[in-house]
Amino acid sequence: MILGQSDALLVIDVQNDFLPGGALPVPEGDRVIAPINRLIGLFPHVVVTQDWHTPGHASFAARHPGKAPFDTAAMPYGTQVLWPDHCVQGTPGAELAPGLDARRAGLLIRKGHAPEVDSYSAFLEADRTTRTGLAGYLRERGLDRLFLCGLATDFCVLWSALDARAEGFAVVLVEDAVAGLDRDGSVARARRDGGGGRGPRRQRGDHRITAGQDPGMT
Ligand SMILES: [Zn+2]
Repeated sequence: MILGQSDALLVIDVQNDFLPGGALPVPEGDRVIAPINRLIGLFPHVVVTQDWHTPGHASFAARHPGKAPFDTAAMPYGTQVLWPDHCVQGTPGAELAPGLDARRAGLLIRKGHAPEVDSYSAFLEADRTTRTGLAGYLRERGLDRLFLCGLATDFCVLWSALDARAEGFAVVLVEDAVAGLDRDGSVARARRDGGGGRGPRRQRGDHRITAGQDPGMT
């Protein structure tokens, strides 16, 4: 695969709280850092996202009496999975992983900063109406193919991939640069719903590669 000037790397939520030892750890989440750093060195354009919640955010289980993390709650915009407190603005857990070489990122998108609305997707908040501005940025820069990596495969990477496709971008998932929370089969579900060879949203140009194996990516 040959990279061109219209390709961008989208690095999703590689933050301390999503790494082993963090508040909402993705199993083996730290293994994505080395391949992502290698990719960052290859891409002409790099965008990084950061989950960035207000204290007491509506997606936190602690906000909902009688609920525990990973329960669900009915929100005005639909069913919300409830999480442990994580990625609170300005805390060490919300910082990008110290091993991530994000210096070359041209854009940092913070999401989930509205107190009452979550945002898994880098494009659209969970109300499915409020835009982060990422699609506009990409279009204005003439970027039309996105390579997705980061955390977690089955939530923020999945939702970002689906929204990227819906916005008309070609999407490539870098298999060895993502890791999932994998609760109740959610990674398998994400793979089924979110990419590969199936589903009405699949578009020309969508596929998967690995950072370590594709000859054009090493
Ligand atoms: Zn979050």
